Amino acid sequence: MFFFSCFGTIHKSKVNAGHPKLPVPEKPNILAECTKHPSRNAAKNDGSVGDIPSVVIQDEYYSSSVLYSTTENRCFENSSHEATVYCEKCDAIFCESCFGTIHKSKVNAGHPKLPISQKSNRLPKCTEHSSITAEFWCKDPNCVIEEKKICHICLLAGGHKFHQYELLTDQVSNNVEKLKDLMRSTQETVDKYQDRVKSFDVCIATFGYEHPLYLAEIEKITKQFDAKKMQVLKKLEEFTGNSQSRLREKKKQIEAYIDNSEVLLLKIESILKSKQKLYDDTKILDTAEAQLRISAFNSQNDFMKVFDDQNYSLTEEMEMKIMDKNR
Ligand SMILES: [Zn+2]
Ligand SMILES: [Zn+2]
Ligand SMILES: [Zn+2]
Ligand SMILES: [Zn+2]
Ligand SMILES: [Zn+2]
Repeated sequence: MFFFSCFGTIHKSKVNAGHPKLPVPEKPNILAECTKHPSRNAAKNDGSVGDIPSVVIQDEYYSSSVLYSTTENRCFENSSHEATVYCEKCDAIFCESCFGTIHKSKVNAGHPKLPISQKSNRLPKCTEHSSITAEFWCKDPNCVIEEKKICHICLLAGGHKFHQYELLTDQVSNNVEKLKDLMRSTQETVDKYQDRVKSFDVCIATFGYEHPLYLAEIEKITKQFDAKKMQVLKKLEEFTGNSQSRLREKKKQIEAYIDNSEVLLLKIESILKSKQKLYDDTKILDTAEAQLRISAFNSQNDFMKVFDDQNYSLTEEMEMKIMDKNR
């Protein structure tokens, strides 16, 4: 029995919302507890996930994401709360806070609080006959009725009359088996993929900047570059050395010419001074003519090069290319 306003307060909660409000005189004799809660389905999933932990699985190939809630334990009062406790009297699961709120009223105060794991596998009530337990599951292939969990009245006299059925407890244990199988195969897949994750780590580690293979590769490249550099420098060195020798050689030839010419000059001078053999000295004249030819040849400046007369460059293959600027 409630004062009008208290009835409202207590039945604001979802658990008690379905209780019919009867005027006091019509009150049934036994009103110790609210034992006849109407059967109800599981807390409806309104799509909001709220406080419930969830997993987002990204599917790259279809660029869609699948959202799985990691729990089916939704608080009866608020489906965005995760339920942790069970009330057998209310036949509902709650979060800690909602359990407290619901059971603050004197009507519900005596309900024991059980851990959610102790919730029994109780069979549901028949939707048609709300006071009778639905003990059967219609598995008739021709059945067009959507509700498949039925009571014995449905089976004997209702829309499911003469339909094939099985016991709901069997259906439950079948489903439990199926779920256990699913759990096993899922766990196997997870184990397999965990091994694969480890393999990925091994693969990734081989690409590390500290990995010996990486360092060896760097050393190889460095050696190859060093070798190439040595080769290029050697070529430049050789070119420089050769140019130097060639110029020295030419210089020597010209110095020799000067020496020879000075000797010739002395001879010619002495002949002119002594005035001897002036009638016949073809040998001296031949020598003098030869010296003049050499002089004409040496006066060409072709071979007088400086370093900067060449272009020095590296090809794409890192070969030294030396080109005469004037050619
Ligand atoms: Zn009630
Ligand atoms: Zn309760
Ligand atoms: Zn709650
Ligand atoms: Zn029924
Ligand atoms: Zn049926």
